[in-house]
Amino acid sequence: MASLAEYRRKRDPARTREPMPGGAKAACGDSFVIQEHHASALHWDFRLERDGVLVSWAVPKGVPPDPKVNHLAVHVEDHPLEYASFEGDIAHGEYGGGAVTIWDRGTYETEKWTDREVKVVLRGERVQGRFVLFQTGGKDWIIHRMDGPVRPDWQPLPTGLTPMLATSGPLPGDDGWAFELAWPGLRCLVRVDGGRIAVSDSGTDVTAKFPELRGLGEQLGATQALSDGVVVSLDQAGRPDPEKLQWRIDAGSRATALKRAKVEPVVLMLVDVLHLDGRPLLSVRYSLRRKALVGLELAGAAWQTPPAFDGSGADALAAAQALGVGGVVAKSRSSRYRPGQRSQKWIESPADR
Ligand code: MN
Repeated sequence: MASLAEYRRKRDPARTREPMPGGAKAACGDSFVIQEHHASALHWDFRLERDGVLVSWAVPKGVPPDPKVNHLAVHVEDHPLEYASFEGDIAHGEYGGGAVTIWDRGTYETEKWTDREVKVVLRGERVQGRFVLFQTGGKDWIIHRMDGPVRPDWQPLPTGLTPMLATSGPLPGDDGWAFELAWPGLRCLVRVDGGRIAVSDSGTDVTAKFPELRGLGEQLGATQALSDGVVVSLDQAGRPDPEKLQWRIDAGSRATALKRAKVEPVVLMLVDVLHLDGRPLLSVRYSLRRKALVGLELAGAAWQTPPAFDGSGADALAAAQALGVGGVVAKSRSSRYRPGQRSQKWIESPADR
């Protein structure tokens, strides 16, 4: 360790804004930094100051929030101390091209340091507590949280859930109800963990069908979430096109799915959030779940958070007609989320055509 030769070999100072070693020394020698790095694959760079360099690991899913789940940490070359304050864009095509931001920084205490095992106590703004990194083979290490979870009430993302369903019927009166467009498409639960997305349709993993949704995981970054949404294909006038969607679903291989995604990208309409950053939201009422969903400000090329209508059901139906959307779902503002159940608290009504 403690050599910057590999760091220098990989970088041309004329082509990257990353700092070059210049002899800067930190005051105490006990600093750490975690940088979120949106390179070709999102990862978090975990760096501990040691003997005048930053000993570094690239952690694809970031610091684990829970002692029950260990994350891979790939040991990478030592970085110069100046790197601890680096934020910015590394030019595309260069080594590690993409945006770098400081995710957390602070000081740490060493409990054990060998070539194969490093045990530290971190004191950052986001991360506190004891962690151990240990080598499993070659550059591959594991990072394990040794204390309890990130918060005492932290709960892992649930598995095996399916979406709540609406009952058909006439729209209810306006009091106590919110109105959403009933998007015709593939209803999915979308899980994001460590910046990685998994899309499931009634328990079937359809992530590979929709590669354009990968960026949603990158946008959420370290924020864990399970959300409910509808994957739709839109025609050139912006109206849902079920045939186009079927063509996307029918892609038999990953390569075909990638090609079709470029030709006819889908849009994921996010409608609910079931679990957020270790907090189960199933028994939280709709109005608060809606607030949590909107607060995430999820918007991108292939995903959006369509508004719920504050006005009357009639206004929502008129909007559905104008947009060529099949109908409207009324959702009781006080209703809980019941996975897999058809509920009278959600009522779907078709728009006249
Ligand atoms: Mn990196």
